[in-house]
Amino acid sequence: MKIGILDIQGSVEEHISALQRLGAEIVRVKNAEDLEGLDGLVMPGGESTTMEKLMKRFGLWEAIIGSGLPIYGTCAGAILLAKMGLIDMEVERNAYGGQLESFETELDFEGGRVPAVFIRAPRFVNVEKVEVLSRNGEEAVCVRQGKIMASSFHPEMAEDTNIHRYFLDMC
Ligand code: GLN
Repeated sequence: MKIGILDIQGSVEEHISALQRLGAEIVRVKNAEDLEGLDGLVMPGGESTTMEKLMKRFGLWEAIIGSGLPIYGTCAGAILLAKMGLIDMEVERNAYGGQLESFETELDFEGGRVPAVFIRAPRFVNVEKVEVLSRNGEEAVCVRQGKIMASSFHPEMAEDTNIHRYFLDMC
């Protein structure tokens, strides 16, 4: 399976390592041409405003919107999915506060427990139209709508690969 990772900024290497441990072939996506022949795409965390600017400069914004690919966005990647209109929910940036409010926890996910790292994480709101895959207390923190999946946390910062495996099953 050939999975692209948006390689502009952010936690790229950690996602690559998780996906490779699951046997995926990795393509670093820097230009629109890199999307060709992919089975899925991961958009990592980072700084969404910077990522948006560079994606537009490299012609990736429209290309990804039109790609029809299964996409998994983590944190800033999730913010971008909502902004691109690829998932029908609202996102509040930095809703948990700054770097010092970053935290690690464990969540229920598909019948198991997964570690989750929240770093200046967004809050997902107006989630009526998406399927909620995981909650932190009351808050939806991992969601899916068709072939699009988003988490407000970083699973790639922990050793567990269950969330990446779930995404590969969607591809
Ligand atoms: N706070 C960042 C943003 O708004 C996201 C942080 C992250 O991806 N870990 O873009």
